Amino acid sequence: MDTNDMQLSEHFSLNEMTRSDTAARKGINNIPPANMMVKLRDLCVQVLEPVRLHFGVPIRPSSGYRSPELNLAVGGAKTSQHPKGEAVDFEVSGVSNYDLACWIQHELVYDQLILECYTPGVPDSGWVHVSYRAGRNRKQAMTYVDGQYVPGLRR
Ligand SMILES: [Zn+2]
Repeated sequence: MDTNDMQLSEHFSLNEMTRSDTAARKGINNIPPANMMVKLRDLCVQVLEPVRLHFGVPIRPSSGYRSPELNLAVGGAKTSQHPKGEAVDFEVSGVSNYDLACWIQHELVYDQLILECYTPGVPDSGWVHVSYRAGRNRKQAMTYVDGQYVPGLRR
């Protein structure tokens, strides 16, 4: 059996949490170590499933786990939580990324929540980054705008 077919939660598979066009194009191995499966499942159960349930539409994560090599290839931060299996980037079709981030901020437990590259007035611009660490979540919400991180969600 291809382990990528493994279901992590009711609506999300390991494949959805690991697929990457960059990895495919550059032949980068992006299979997470076995000890990260629990973390990836936590992201699905604690973050993606509640978001899907609330907004009522399927979600296709744009970036979940990144092997260290893939993280380097996509220009991810050295301290990124993606290679730790603790972060996922996504959007919800038909919902502004600002509104999505606000809902997560108020309704979910998370470690870091970042509204990335959002342009006010352009609802589907940017994306939302959410990280989750079982039992030690900092609940930090930030906006990445003009090349820097600022506290809170800004539009
Ligand atoms: Zn991210």
